[in-house]
Amino acid sequence: MRQPLVAGNWKMNGSAESIKLLLDGIKKSLDTVSKAEVVVCPPYVYISEVQAQLAGTTVSLGSQNVNEHGAGAYTGEISTSMLLDFQCRYAIVGHSERRSIYGEDDAQVAAKFAAARAAGIKPILCVGEVLEEREQGVTEDVVARQLDAVIALEGVDALADGVIAYEPVWAIGTGKTASPEQAQDVHAFIRNRIARQSAAAAEKVQILYGGSVKGANAPELFSMPDIDGGLIGGASLDADEFISICQAAV
Ligand code: PEP
Repeated sequence: MRQPLVAGNWKMNGSAESIKLLLDGIKKSLDTVSKAEVVVCPPYVYISEVQAQLAGTTVSLGSQNVNEHGAGAYTGEISTSMLLDFQCRYAIVGHSERRSIYGEDDAQVAAKFAAARAAGIKPILCVGEVLEEREQGVTEDVVARQLDAVIALEGVDALADGVIAYEPVWAIGTGKTASPEQAQDVHAFIRNRIARQSAAAAEKVQILYGGSVKGANAPELFSMPDIDGGLIGGASLDADEFISICQAAV
């Protein structure tokens, strides 16, 4: 059985003050979350503070990105060993905003996946199509290409050391959620593609859905057989909303 996982991606939001309030709200209701592993991914500068505030709780810490190189002249970047200094257990790689705004391509995302995995950090590999691609009927081709870049570099079994997040780009931050059936179709496609090469990896890997998940739509999405939780953007900034999403992951 795969444990459900709900990860909050705070993106470039918050302040020291608002983050403390958000964490207080999450911690207050954490005992109402029975099944899901809960992860928060703050902006880098707050990671130390968030680590301290999460001490003694079951919430895990994640980063929103990581550099693929070990150390050196990479101004503005953060390495896996730096994340490990703060017990970061997860790192999002290949978020659509990194791909579209910062030009990260499949090869670079695969290298980030590899670097995180080598350091013992679980990469959360984001895949997903833009609206035009869905309308052209090439969603599966796009997702397969993004997945295959990691498989080519690391081998299919490596996927079991990470997490996959299917995030249709047209649903991110737009209020438009994929229907549970639309999401399930792509999740099943991903799992079947992995299963063709490794049944064990396909069975083990958690596949999260991301894209305008809220407390109201989470129960239906999370009831789908291949949806193992969510990667949550906007709604993860509201403690009550985030907790109700975490409660829906059973
Ligand atoms: C995201 O950015 O990963 C995301 C899913 O955002 P939102 O929940 O706001 O759509």
